[in-house]
Amino acid sequence: MKYTSTRSYCPTDSLKAVLNSIAPDGGLYISKDILNMSFDWKQCLKLNTPDMSKMICKALLDDFDNIESIIEKSYKDRFETKELTPLVKVGKNYVCELFHGPTCAFKDVALSVLPNLIVSARKKAGFENDTIILTATSGDTGKAALEAFKDVTGTKIIVFYPKEGVSEIQKRQMITQKGSNVKVCAVDGNFDDCQSAVKQAFNSIKDKGLASANSINIGRLIPQIVYYFSSYRDLLKTGEISQGEKINFAVPTGNFGDILAGYYAKLMGLPIDKLICASNSNNVLTDFLKTGTYNRNRPFFKTISPSMDILISSNLERLLFLLSDGNFNFVSNCMTELGTNGRYSVPQAILAKIQESFLFGSATEEETQDSIRQCYYQNNYLLDPHTAVAWNVTQKLNSGKTVVLSTASPFKFSTSVSKALDLSCQGSEFELMKALSLKTSIAIPKSLSELENLPVLHNDCISKDRIVEYVRKELDLWI
Ligand SMILES: *Cc1c(COP(=O)(O)O)cnc(C)c1O
Repeated sequence: MKYTSTRSYCPTDSLKAVLNSIAPDGGLYISKDILNMSFDWKQCLKLNTPDMSKMICKALLDDFDNIESIIEKSYKDRFETKELTPLVKVGKNYVCELFHGPTCAFKDVALSVLPNLIVSARKKAGFENDTIILTATSGDTGKAALEAFKDVTGTKIIVFYPKEGVSEIQKRQMITQKGSNVKVCAVDGNFDDCQSAVKQAFNSIKDKGLASANSINIGRLIPQIVYYFSSYRDLLKTGEISQGEKINFAVPTGNFGDILAGYYAKLMGLPIDKLICASNSNNVLTDFLKTGTYNRNRPFFKTISPSMDILISSNLERLLFLLSDGNFNFVSNCMTELGTNGRYSVPQAILAKIQESFLFGSATEEETQDSIRQCYYQNNYLLDPHTAVAWNVTQKLNSGKTVVLSTASPFKFSTSVSKALDLSCQGSEFELMKALSLKTSIAIPKSLSELENLPVLHNDCISKDRIVEYVRKELDLWI
């Protein structure tokens, strides 16, 4: 497959797309070939999850010649469950649990693979210098990336997180991170500030081997396609659907990476009817999908689903590219307008195409809490606040068989979840975690309970306009 930037024609292959992460013109790497590729999706549905992943990654990252061993190595003993992402029936819907990896968030599915892709691509490209992974996080990417890259030879990783913008547990997961090649830094700003500064660092620091672990990296996006297939397979297996029947997926959305992977699955032939884009109070995407105008000039809310507190959804750029049939001018004009005026509008024809594949909706804070409570007391199933946003939107739309992607363990957000259940909310996050476990009889994931006694190893905190400088300084120390 040929890869290019979304903003101008700059042909490259999947190895370089993964290594460079972001194109020289600031665009994202993408292959137009996905629009008319032939993929034997029926055959894919016969496989177990790791084998599905091999088949999908092989098709889309076809310049890697060792995908099978990469996937094998990536998932070996990293997930609690052999099938990686189990599907459970909840009420008249289904939940695909993506949080059984080492950091209890869906990002583990792709970030388990990314380091091995990078190491393999470096080898093939004959890289001698270390690859420096720069990551902005809204809470979960940071820890998943740290855990994935720690002590991986030839790589170093720096994670920036918004100081007040992540949950207590998410923060503790990051500041207690061990590893000789990791650096974690708090930023006085929000996720968009962190992500913009990281993109700026990519543009201004060239030839130093920077790479990204965010979903702007195509190597992050592609391994996420697999659970759309595995969910469909599981529904077939249990007789909930018949072969070829179209289903919906509801996706708690922030940077538009997870849901874009679903769109890829649809393009590859998987019978998906609608992808439901669910937002919290930061509902910039809901408005865009409804009106065709993307406008980030609006208040930024800190919510109980912090990993979705995002006003600049980077991966939308890739959707615009695909829907305009690879129109570089169109995409780059939109992105220039977003940069200068904070808004852009797409033509009616593009909006119509978007609405063919996407439904949308948002949940307020109150609705999110109501959904956690109702789902628990009606179905005996505990949702985390991100999943609850998608659950809420799914209930409101009520449009056919839907798989809700569950993106995090509820124990990562014990304060908000126990509040929603009306448990008396006192004590530390860890006490609340235990209370929640007692109430629900669900075991606390070990990687979360052990955080309580781990020493804090990272205390750096900087203002948002010093991120690039911080990166330069670390590079000087390291190289
Ligand atoms: C990252 C994240 C999301 C949003 O995913 P995107 O790919 O950024 O849209 C949703 N829920 C949780 C728990 C996350 O960590």
